[in-house]
Amino acid sequence: MGKKFRVFATCDIGESIELLRRRGYEVEVYPHAEAPAKKVIIEKVKSGVDGLITTLRDQIDAEVFEAGKGTLKVVAQIAVGFDNINRGDASRYKVPFTNTADVLTEATAEFAFFMLGALARRMWTAEHLTRENKWSYWHPYLPFLGDEVTGKTIAIIGTGRIGLAMIKKCAGSDMNMLCYDPAYQNHEFVGAIQETMDLRHARGISKEKTWIKYSTLEDALAQADFVSVHVPLLREGETQTPTYHLFNERTLRMMKKTAFLVNTSRGPVVDEAALARALRENWIAGAALDVYEKEPLPADSALRDPAIEDRCRLYPHFASAGRTTRLSTDPDKGMAGRCAQGLIDVLEKNYGGDVTKMPYVVNKEAFGKAG
Ligand code: NAD
Repeated sequence: MGKKFRVFATCDIGESIELLRRRGYEVEVYPHAEAPAKKVIIEKVKSGVDGLITTLRDQIDAEVFEAGKGTLKVVAQIAVGFDNINRGDASRYKVPFTNTADVLTEATAEFAFFMLGALARRMWTAEHLTRENKWSYWHPYLPFLGDEVTGKTIAIIGTGRIGLAMIKKCAGSDMNMLCYDPAYQNHEFVGAIQETMDLRHARGISKEKTWIKYSTLEDALAQADFVSVHVPLLREGETQTPTYHLFNERTLRMMKKTAFLVNTSRGPVVDEAALARALRENWIAGAALDVYEKEPLPADSALRDPAIEDRCRLYPHFASAGRTTRLSTDPDKGMAGRCAQGLIDVLEKNYGGDVTKMPYVVNKEAFGKAG
């Protein structure tokens, strides 16, 4: 390699940093666990780094790209979601940015499924009962019961990578599924899942016949016992199908009073004030959240209300936080590995330097023939 590339990582991503260094890269890692202030990122970019490694905590927009004009060649994000990166600005400044799709799909879906189980079966409340020594007898229904997951109906909102992986987990628990996605419908996948469900029933593995189908949002919300959200955060103007506050007073009220909401997508997809009311006033039975409108979750969040504590599970943006998923240096297994590879592809001009052919680049539209 001729030129020594300079990279600033806003966060440590483990062994992959060492691998970049061994490749001859000069990599500076922000030394604190908290995210750097934007001015720190701008300073580093101004100093002429070739590449930035970013997390969803960093606001990457025109200000950053302007600071890196002529020097910044790539932004490599360690996440699949990239709502913190202004796609239009990146493309205008002709800076490709990469993400880590696919490698976190199964980990995120399984966490959503476990959240759903913990919520419905009241595992948190049950453990508290045991730990606080309030478990005084076995009784058919006291002090409380949970709701089974097996055999219930779930609405899958967004049938992209993680939504489809969630469908696999739910199929294994003999759930019926209503899928909603206005922009991408994978009928082949849904058909194949139906075939496996039919086979399980025909062979006596599943007692009841189960089904899966695409539906409208209204029907999905009205019929489902569980609603699991797997959409990107898209604001008005960014798409034909915005997801900002997709769950609001109107849509929460469409859900059954006995239904549970699970959100592992992005916080602003759910109007938290409306959700807190929905839980307090029993419009729905419960919610399990991994993401919030403001992260970390503020101390005064209405979601922390003790009155809804046993019906509201709160997790710290943890769905992809599996050891292999987060840190494997293998780009086919780990977010860190895929993030580093995305950076390398652009800086070392892999794929003949054709950005549109680089698998992890998101804003390919800016680099077409006309671009
Ligand atoms: P994806 O792009 O493969 O799938 C998203 C799907 O949502 C697409 O099929 C899209 O058509 C659909 N969609 C868009 N607008 C919609 C709308 N208005 N209503 C319903 N569906 C709509 O993305 P993915 O890899 O499945 O990831 C989904 C999101 O999950 C990411 O963008 C990220 O924000 C979030 N995520 C969170 C964590 C976590 O740790 N909690 C981990 C990974 C991903």
